Amino acid sequence: MEFGNKNCDDVILHLQKSLLKSISNLRLKLSCCCLCGNACQQHPLLCQYCQADLPYFNHQLVPHDLLAWPAIAELIQSPYFDHLVAVAPYVWPFDMWVSQLKYQLKTELAEVLSYLLISHWRQYLAIEQYDITPGNTWVLAVPLHLRKWQERGFNQAHLIAQKFVKSFGYHYQMDMLVREKFTENQVGKSGIERRKNLKNAFRVNCDKKVALPKHIILIDDVVTTGTTANEICRLLKKRGVQKITLLNICIALPR
Ligand SMILES: [Zn+2]
Repeated sequence: MEFGNKNCDDVILHLQKSLLKSISNLRLKLSCCCLCGNACQQHPLLCQYCQADLPYFNHQLVPHDLLAWPAIAELIQSPYFDHLVAVAPYVWPFDMWVSQLKYQLKTELAEVLSYLLISHWRQYLAIEQYDITPGNTWVLAVPLHLRKWQERGFNQAHLIAQKFVKSFGYHYQMDMLVREKFTENQVGKSGIERRKNLKNAFRVNCDKKVALPKHIILIDDVVTTGTTANEICRLLKKRGVQKITLLNICIALPR
C-alpha cells in the first residue's frame, strides 16, 4: 500500500501519538505515588488524593497574586516585579521535594513540581485580568552560577521551567540570564548585606538593540526574601519590560 508524502506524515504522527499515549499509560500502571505508595491516575508520581491534600495557599483567604497579601508586602519591600504567584508555603512535602531534588539529585521530582505549577498557573490564568499570551510573554528561569551548576549538574529552576513552557506555548529564553558572581548562601544575612552581595551578580545576556517582550514570567523554586529575584527584575525593568510575574513553587514565610 502506497502513501503520498502528506499521508505518510499523518500516519507517522498518528503512530507517534499512540506510542506516547501507550508509554504514558504504562508509566501510570508501573509507578506509584511518591507520598503514599498507592496507584496513580493522572501523574506517575503523585496520586490524586495526595495531590488534593497538599498544603496549598488557601485562596479563600489569601489573594492569588501574593504581592497583594500584607504578610508578603512586609516581607518583600520595593519589589521590581508586579505579580507574585506560588503554589504553596515552603512546608512538607514541598520542602522535602525541593531538598531531594537539589541535594539528592532526584530530578524526577522536577516533574512533580512543574506538574503542580502548571495546574496552579491554569487556575491563576482563569482569574487574572491582564494580557498573558505566548505572543507577548517570555519565560526565564533564575540562573545558577556556573560553579554551582557544575557541582549540582543541573539548575532545578530550569528543569521546572522547561516543562512549564511546553504546556502553555510560551517562549523560553534559557540563556538570557547569566549569574556572573558566585555568592555565598544568603541565609542569615540582613537585607542590606543581601543586596550588596548581589550587586552585579547577574547580567541580561541579550543585545541592547533587541526589544524584550511586554511581559516576563520569571521562574524559581523557592522565594525566601525575594532579593535574588528582585535584582534580576530590576535589570529586566531597566531593559524596558513592563510587567514581570515571579512564579515559584513555594514561598518560605517567616515564622
Ligand atoms: Zn498518594
